[in-house]
Amino acid sequence: MNETDKFAPRSLPTRDALFIGAARYRRPSYTSNHPLAIPRVSLALDLINAYGAITPAEYLTGRKASNKELTWFHEPAYIQAFQRAQFRGKVTQADRERFQLGNLENPYFPDFFDTPSLATGSSIQGAEQVLAGRTAFSPAGGMHHAAPHQARGFCYLNDPALAIMRLRRAGLRVLYLDIDAHHGDGVEAAFVDDPETLTASIHMDTSYAYPFQGGGIDDQPGGAVNLPLPPGINDAEYRLAFHSLWSRLLEGFRPDVVVLQAGTDILTHDPLSKFRVSNGVFWEAATRVIDESPRLLVLGGGGYHPIALARCWTGVWARLTGRALDERLPDAASALLRAVNWELDDEDAEETERLYTHLSDLPNDGPVREEVRARVQRLLDSHPLLAPRVMAVRQIESKD
Ligand SMILES: [Zn+2]
Repeated sequence: MNETDKFAPRSLPTRDALFIGAARYRRPSYTSNHPLAIPRVSLALDLINAYGAITPAEYLTGRKASNKELTWFHEPAYIQAFQRAQFRGKVTQADRERFQLGNLENPYFPDFFDTPSLATGSSIQGAEQVLAGRTAFSPAGGMHHAAPHQARGFCYLNDPALAIMRLRRAGLRVLYLDIDAHHGDGVEAAFVDDPETLTASIHMDTSYAYPFQGGGIDDQPGGAVNLPLPPGINDAEYRLAFHSLWSRLLEGFRPDVVVLQAGTDILTHDPLSKFRVSNGVFWEAATRVIDESPRLLVLGGGGYHPIALARCWTGVWARLTGRALDERLPDAASALLRAVNWELDDEDAEETERLYTHLSDLPNDGPVREEVRARVQRLLDSHPLLAPRVMAVRQIESKD
């Protein structure tokens, strides 16, 4: 809060939600050519603030996770090696191989333990806020690939798993919904043996996308729900997939709380995405989750186009707090986005003027390909949790 997080509220919230951030995110992380070496949480917060869409009371400064909390999920040897590497300023060859730390995918950088530890503590804090009756957004979280003993896929610490564990310790039944473009493999693996936690993931099929294994339509470890989709998913297709799955998830599992991993790499401009979803359809999905979840924790996730990400999360924040934002960005907001160190093509340039994705060249309202429709239907028909409750109703009737 002591760097440049200042707030000038112009519109007041109608819902009680908290944004969990930290000044740390204003300094660079990762290495200069890494996809995550871009402003993300700080840019989203600045854009929200340029709209006057946050008050000081809605902002919570994140804290680091304790070692005790980290070992709810992570192996002590991994945490120790990670802290040792930060202290020494380098990763040894042995630790690099064993823990996947300090390689190109999960690079060493100054504070490379403290930074994900802060994101993880923030997501656990978010869970605690939810337990206290509020809604929370921890945009630095959502690092869903990390394994108990290894960093994976740009993720060092698995904050979604730890936030869910915090909710589970309070006895809540948790639905984890992952709309990041990549399969939420690390979180799925964490809860395969827990019948009170359901993990569901809609993602790029791992036949062509990271993590290149698992997450198939017939991979339902421990009752997990996976909906892998082919490249080129448009708005109409995403809408169909999301809304049909969401209704059945809620009905079939009846959670006490929903944890939404809101990675933005399904968006059409994202350089790592093979989907072409607009932020409008992203917000339609988020709005249903916000309106229909009994309680809600929202985490960040992937997202490698800083301007698309900041606009998308600004829209999510607006919906979390019940604010309506003008589609035309305020001048200060446009200036902020134009100042980002990111090469803009002609289409991107328009993206600095408007909150909504401007889809000038995309016939994005369809068609829904038969392949996509069939895949969604197959999941709904075959998954034991999602299948319509006809049997259950018959059983109830036969008892009369
Ligand atoms: Zn991703």
